[in-house]
Amino acid sequence: MRVFVILPAAGLGTRMAPGHTAQAAPKQFLEVAGVPILIHTLRAFAAVPEIASIVIAVRASERERLAAHIHEHGYTGKVTLAEGGDTRQESVYNALRTLKCDPNDVVLVHDAVRPLIEPAIIRRVIEAVEKHNAAIVGLPALDTIKQVERTAEGAIVTATIPREYIVQAQTPQGFRCGLLRQAFAEAEADGFSGTDEASIVERAGTQVFVVPGSLSNIKITQPGDLELAEFFLAHRA
Ligand code: C5P
Repeated sequence: MRVFVILPAAGLGTRMAPGHTAQAAPKQFLEVAGVPILIHTLRAFAAVPEIASIVIAVRASERERLAAHIHEHGYTGKVTLAEGGDTRQESVYNALRTLKCDPNDVVLVHDAVRPLIEPAIIRRVIEAVEKHNAAIVGLPALDTIKQVERTAEGAIVTATIPREYIVQAQTPQGFRCGLLRQAFAEAEADGFSGTDEASIVERAGTQVFVVPGSLSNIKITQPGDLELAEFFLAHRA
């Protein structure tokens, strides 16, 4: 059994610069503590020796810039690039198609823009996939969760969902390669789009196991998140 990693990194990051369709550097290339976000992410996965190879899905226009960063930081050996798509799902599928994995191998998918993932959590997901075939990182919800109906003026509460029924899905999300391939093929055939890989695998009828995540595994999404990432990094061990 081998372990492969897919890092979708083809987003435009428009929420980092509201009002603009794209910024000079998509968020995965912005720096935290002087190092591009994507390189922090790569560093965490490179620290897990079980991982055989890493595929990064990237826009054609960013390929050169990314290749230069990978070279500069010495990750050329383990990393290959795949074509980014118009959606995250497409980017992941493009990368998945390039993998030469056996059905029993493990594939981890991780948002390139979650640079603070810890190698210990990556290992936890790999072990859970070995046992349960499909596993994601989840965080218990701290706030009370409401179901709402959207209205012209905002929203009205329709129900309160007991917190014990809720986890917030993070990445990595890991699956047996055969299972993930089959689920993506079914989703494509049915025109289904999911916001994460687990939703695609769930609809294919597979149970997905949840392992505990970490509060610091934030997804860099909006202004302020870079400072938060710097803070978590500075206070790490
Ligand atoms: O936009 P969001 O923050 O949900 O993106 C999550 C991850 O998916 C990011 O690493 C982003 O670069 C990636 N992505 C992608 N292709 C897209 C859209 C997002 O690889 N078309």
